[in-house]
Amino acid sequence: MMFDVLIIGGGQAGSMTAINLRKQKYEGSIAIITEERHHPYQRPPLSKGFLSGHIKQESLFFKSEHYYEKNNIKVFLKSRAVGIEAKKQKVILERGEEIKYKKLIIATGSKLNKITPEEDEKIVYLNSIANAVNLKKRLEEHKSIGIVGAGYIGLEVAATAKKMDLKTTVFETEKRIMQRSASDEIANFIKNYHEKMGVEFKLGSRVQKISTENKTRIILDDGQVSDPDFVVIGVGVHAACDIAQEAGIDCNNGILVDETCLTSEENIYAAGDCVSYYFSRYGSRQRLECVQNAIDQATIVSAAIMGEPTAYKSIPWFWSDQYDLKIQIAGLSQDSDFLVTRGNKNDCKFSVCHFKNNKLRAVECVNDQKTFMLGKKLIETESKITPEAIENIQTNLRDWK
Ligand SMILES: Cc1cc2nc3c(=O)[nH]c(=O)nc-3n(C[C@H](O)[C@H](O)[C@H](O)COP(=O)(O)OP(=O)(O)OC[C@H]3O[C@@H](n4cnc5c(N)ncnc54)[C@H](O)[C@@H]3O)c2cc1C
Repeated sequence: MMFDVLIIGGGQAGSMTAINLRKQKYEGSIAIITEERHHPYQRPPLSKGFLSGHIKQESLFFKSEHYYEKNNIKVFLKSRAVGIEAKKQKVILERGEEIKYKKLIIATGSKLNKITPEEDEKIVYLNSIANAVNLKKRLEEHKSIGIVGAGYIGLEVAATAKKMDLKTTVFETEKRIMQRSASDEIANFIKNYHEKMGVEFKLGSRVQKISTENKTRIILDDGQVSDPDFVVIGVGVHAACDIAQEAGIDCNNGILVDETCLTSEENIYAAGDCVSYYFSRYGSRQRLECVQNAIDQATIVSAAIMGEPTAYKSIPWFWSDQYDLKIQIAGLSQDSDFLVTRGNKNDCKFSVCHFKNNKLRAVECVNDQKTFMLGKKLIETESKITPEAIENIQTNLRDWK
């Protein structure tokens, strides 16, 4: 069997690459290899609207099954790729089958960090429809939940659990929530908001053991014990790049690609969470775990295959929904050297604006869509807006574009 374009991974980046190619009238054969039993679907609602019942399972899918048939995109479901022979341009599936390609795209996403040795019904890791269905059922049937990890996924689950009236406790090793992903200002605000809603936080101590014999028990390294009905673990992910590494493709915290998403191997591209991309804007490599990045890299890969290579122009952005808070972040705030706040935290509508070397670098917005949209533009265009100007809510940000 041979395909002109073969894609490993049927998530956001893999499916978007195939869909883009057909939109651009690519006429070659295309196949997606996915280990999942479902056609490609979006993951963000799995920790949000799907859990609360606002989004039904059928709405998660990017396209209907019929779309793939009609557009001649072969989808190999329940098929795990276990090897790539780059010189022979073929992929080996777990069941032994070999598939040849002209161009290969690795879009294997990320792998969950695990802190428990075995799968257990009462311990939920959240990255697939199957896990989300299990979690939804548990939320509906139980009275208390322990959440390990105070990152976005843990906090989104906490918000849903609280809305469903469960006793909700969040355990986090760091001394504050969202250590990796948000500034102190935003993290403090969100923590206070959760506490007002009744969520309890246990920060600064590590979960030592989780047992589920007889009853579920979380034991912390400082001796504290908690007995929730079940546990959700959201302690981050890492790049799913083993298959690339074993094939001899250059990897370092992700598959290393150039600006057109080409790997160190001719005819092999990579996109999405599994990629470490060089951003000339930042002068550094970044591995991003967000929908925008997967979509943008899928666009880059399909453009390269269509013979019109392009590079990444947009800045990274991300969103999270917790209660009635819409949190939107544009740009990278990690190494900013100065920040100001636009708007009033008491109104639950404000933005933290990060500067580096006097240039706007990132905006973290809470219920402040306008500052998010315009701030994103200002960062993209390297506007000369000053901290004083952006802090003043009378300033029309359009004037600084
Ligand atoms: C619960 C949850 C909530 C999220 N919320 C947000 C959000 O609010 N905003 C946001 O921007 N991002 C969010 N994300 C992150 C976002 O979903 C990911 O960044 C995005 O899906 C990355 O796309 P991807 O194609 O790289 O990987 P994925 O979408 O993860 O797809 C990778 C696919 O490859 C498959 N695969 C891996 N290895 C193999 C193999 N060897 N053979 C066959 N198949 C393989 C995997 O099973 C998976 O289906 C969330 C993620 C999760 C899990």
